[in-house]
Amino acid sequence: MIQRTRHVLEFPGGYTRTTGPVIGRFLTELRDRRLVGVRTATGRTLVPPLEYDPDTGDAVTGEFVEVGPAGTVESWSWAGSPRAGHPLDRPFAWALIRLDGADTSLLHAVDAGDVRAMRPGLRVRPRWRAERAGHVTDIECFVPEVTAMTAPVRVEYTVTPGLALARFLSGIARGVFLGSRCGSCGKVYVPYRLSCPECGVAVTEEVELPGTGTVTTFAINNLPDPRAPEVPFVSAYVLLDGADIPMIVLIGGIPAHEVREGMRVRAVWAPESERGPSMDSVRWFAPTGEPDEEV
Ligand SMILES: [Zn+2]
Repeated sequence: MIQRTRHVLEFPGGYTRTTGPVIGRFLTELRDRRLVGVRTATGRTLVPPLEYDPDTGDAVTGEFVEVGPAGTVESWSWAGSPRAGHPLDRPFAWALIRLDGADTSLLHAVDAGDVRAMRPGLRVRPRWRAERAGHVTDIECFVPEVTAMTAPVRVEYTVTPGLALARFLSGIARGVFLGSRCGSCGKVYVPYRLSCPECGVAVTEEVELPGTGTVTTFAINNLPDPRAPEVPFVSAYVLLDGADIPMIVLIGGIPAHEVREGMRVRAVWAPESERGPSMDSVRWFAPTGEPDEEV
C-alpha cells in the first residue's frame, strides 16, 4: 500500500513539468472523460500511467487501456477542515482509489458527505467537471456509487434476532404480517420479536395482523431504489392496525407528493407464485381510500 503512493499522481498541483507522451495521453483522455492506464511489460496496468515500470525500471509498453471509471477505495484519510487549494470546500476524504482494471491506485478526493460513509472497499465514480482542460482536476472528485440505497426495512430486520426474523418472514411468504404480543405490557410488535424491549420478558403470543395501517411519518426519496415503484418514491412508517410499533415500508400507487401523515394504506403483495420469505413479497403499501386518521 505504501509503495503504491509512489505511483500516485499528486493532486492538487501535481504537474509542473512537460507531460511527455505517456502522461500526455492520460491527460488528453481525461479531457474526453476517459480514464486510461498504460501496460507494463509484465502485464500490469498503471493508473495514473508512468513512463517506467516502477517495479523493473523498464519503459512501459505504450499500450493504453481504458479503466474505470468506477473504482474501489483502498485507503483514505479524512480532511475535516478543507483549506484553500483543496478540491472541495466541505469535509471530504483523500483516498487511494484503484480504478476497475488498474493495478495501481490513484490519489483523489472523495466527496462522501460524512466520514462515516468512508470505508475500504467503498465503490466510487468520478464526478467530472463540465469544463475540462486535460488536467487531473478534470475530475472534480469521486463520489460513492449509489448502491441500492440501503432500504430501511432491511436494516430493521438485520438487527432483529434470526429466529424472530425467520418467523416473521414465514408469515410474509403466505401473505400475513406476524406480530408478537407481550404478555406483560400487552404491546404488539411487528415485525415479530422474541422478547419485549420494554419489559425484557420473552414474548410467546403470536398475532396475525391485517395488511392495513396508517402512515405515521414518511420521507420522500429522490435516489433510485430497485424495489421502489418510481423516483421520487416514499418510504414511510406505517402503524399496522393492531400493532403498537410502526414498521418501515415503501408507499406506492400514489404520487410521492400526495402522501400524508394519517393516510390509510394497505399492503400490495406480489403475486402468490412470486412470494417467498422475503420482504420483496410485499411490493409496497397503497392508499385504501379511507378517510385519514389522526396521528
Ligand atoms: Zn412488554
